[in-house]
Amino acid sequence: MRESLRSLADFYRGLAGRLESRELKGYIADSVKNMTGARQVELRLADELTDELTDEKSGAGQPNRDRLDYQLASEGHHLGEIYLYFEGSAEPNPADREIILEIMAAAAAALGAAAKYQKAVNLASLDGLTGLYNHRIFDEVFRREFAKAKRHQHGLALLSLDLDHFKVVNDSYGHQFGDLVLKSVADILTQVARATDLAARLGGEEFALLLPHTSQEQALVVATRVKSMLDHKYFDPGNGAVFHQTVSQGVAGVEHFMVKSPEDMLYLADQALYLAKREGRDAIRSVADVAPLKPAMKDGLYVFQ
Ligand code: GH3
Ligand code: MG
Ligand code: MG
Repeated sequence: MRESLRSLADFYRGLAGRLESRELKGYIADSVKNMTGARQVELRLADELTDELTDEKSGAGQPNRDRLDYQLASEGHHLGEIYLYFEGSAEPNPADREIILEIMAAAAAALGAAAKYQKAVNLASLDGLTGLYNHRIFDEVFRREFAKAKRHQHGLALLSLDLDHFKVVNDSYGHQFGDLVLKSVADILTQVARATDLAARLGGEEFALLLPHTSQEQALVVATRVKSMLDHKYFDPGNGAVFHQTVSQGVAGVEHFMVKSPEDMLYLADQALYLAKREGRDAIRSVADVAPLKPAMKDGLYVFQ
């Protein structure tokens, strides 16, 4: 038993270095079930426990005669709870309970390592100031979503955003206040984004919103929502200098005739954004405003008049 316990702990440790907590969870539950002979094993991660506080069917929190509950913690962090269900007669004796405790310790250590790994992955994927996805992740996801949209012929829209006259905000109220404005814009994008959308900070005061299964027309509605939320937001740097931060937005959809690659789409969304800037800022333009007419084709090439 000791031997297999050691190899179980090694097994967990190996997994924890490359899996996130949610993935590791399944491995732990399965192996704990095998090792302990439990009829059923349920593992709930700390963030799932808060999600499910009101969930009656989990049975969590209700004392149960044929169930053993363990808290999993590592280095002072509560990581989750695990419930082992036994058939009444097969309930472990005190010696076995000791062993189970050791298995739990191995599971907790593995989950602790997975949490650290996840933190490192997040740090490499998220923008430090706003918590939005960074440019690298945006590029990766955009390419993948673009390929999927083309293959399955469904919508994909891209919103490119740039804060208007942001230099003035920094110059007038300081960089720190500027950072606060950037965070507020990021919060608005997060609120507007659905679970399958991706909000990213591409750099400086430039953001992007990637909208899978969304047409150019629908993306304009999303852009209008962003504008309206900003219109309702006041920034107060003190001295009575309350102001609104506006953004210029450019929209492109995968259905536009000039969009053949992710690069095209990004380029055209930016062209729409520049048009919004040129036409006075605080505005939304789409690729349809930049290139409204499908040009004629000659010898397989577009001919612009
Ligand atoms: P436009 O409407 O043409 O976009 O004008 P703008 O002033 O926003 O454009 P410009 O590109 O001249 O200035 C961008 C400013 O964004 C300058 C830079 O100081 C500021 N900025 C970029 N990154 C950050 C940041 O992380 N924090 C803060 N506070 N400011 C930033
Ligand atoms: Mg800019
Ligand atoms: Mg700007």
